[in-house]
Amino acid sequence: MHLGGFEADSMNRRCALLPISDPELRCKLFDSLVLPILSYASEVWGVDEKIGDAAELLHRQFLKHILGARDSTANVIVLAELGRYPLCFHWWQQILRYHNRINNLYDDERLIQCAFVEGMHDPAHLFWSHKGHSWLQGDSVGLSIEDDLDVSTVIGTAKNHYAQTWHQSSLSSVARYQPLQPEYVLAPYLSAVKGFKSRKLISRFRCGCHGLHVDTGRLLPLAQQVPRGQRHCVFCASGSAEDDHHFVFDCPAYYAIRNRFTNIFWSAAPTLSSFFIILHDPKVIARFLRECFEHPGGSTVWTYPLVL
Ligand SMILES: [Zn+2]
Repeated sequence: MHLGGFEADSMNRRCALLPISDPELRCKLFDSLVLPILSYASEVWGVDEKIGDAAELLHRQFLKHILGARDSTANVIVLAELGRYPLCFHWWQQILRYHNRINNLYDDERLIQCAFVEGMHDPAHLFWSHKGHSWLQGDSVGLSIEDDLDVSTVIGTAKNHYAQTWHQSSLSSVARYQPLQPEYVLAPYLSAVKGFKSRKLISRFRCGCHGLHVDTGRLLPLAQQVPRGQRHCVFCASGSAEDDHHFVFDCPAYYAIRNRFTNIFWSAAPTLSSFFIILHDPKVIARFLRECFEHPGGSTVWTYPLVL
């Protein structure tokens, strides 16, 4: 188990016992109890992001556990849903603070400062300073490492760049999800819906691991897969793909249920983003989704259990 994995498991077990399921609180607990262990000595190794891969994976698994999302859910979607950033931003913050501390040593004769300054000007020989130099001069920051740095401004700039570009992915699932998360913050329903099962239902739907045919169809062996548009709904004769929009707005199998939720279906040109973001109480949306999934003639979602 990776360093920090034991602590993450212990924290999850403790949260289950208490019980604490609030996503924001659990993320704060992670940052207080697990992140310091994952970041031990990151001032030194943090410049090599490959070294942190296992810790990043542990972080993402923790977030997927909170959401109840499938392991194969796109990482950028899971991070965006919770308004979280990859851990490397925290490590860079530690590195830059370390850089400033060394830079501010009052005695120029100190060996550590001499070595640091020499490495700064000789990037071919010191991997650490070379990597720091490269990161600061990259697209996300665009600064030089030679002076004292305002760490909070640098990290804020880098995070802002990430928040503006996270959806520039080749994954079609990211393109479909992005309109549902216009701001890079914890999705509001995660605080509004207190029940874990109802919240998980919305999370899975938004993240695309809802178990509709367009989703389950891509989990089949490659030879058995058909194009997304041909993963037809088997609960109606429309010939439409069983995707999110068809399930929520169009499928006749749920007509009677929609009639009981008329207050959330008033728009003449409904979209999933308006459905999830603008118009409605997320608790009502959770109830609607649950009724549809539990409908006897309803979706195949039960092939993928709702409760982990
Ligand atoms: Zn249908």
